[in-house]
Amino acid sequence: MAYKIMSEECIGCGACEQECPQGAISVGDDFVYVIDPKKCTEDAACASVCPVDCIELDN
Ligand code: SF4
Ligand code: SF4
Repeated sequence: MAYKIMSEECIGCGACEQECPQGAISVGDDFVYVIDPKKCTEDAACASVCPVDCIELDN
């Protein structure tokens, strides 16, 4: 399992990317933030800082 960003609710603030200790979160030219499930260790750091609460455990 890994955390997942619900892209339709993401406001593109970048807080999750800065917070992730694994460097698992990246953003493309379209400003859509995505989590690499292979790098995610499920520590929930990103979810704890997301201002719109759009990061959830994907199971
Ligand atoms: S749960 Fe942790 S490791 Fe996974 S994307 Fe969020 S901050 Fe990074
Ligand atoms: S912290 Fe939340 S709103 Fe901000 S870029 Fe990450 S997923 Fe989007």
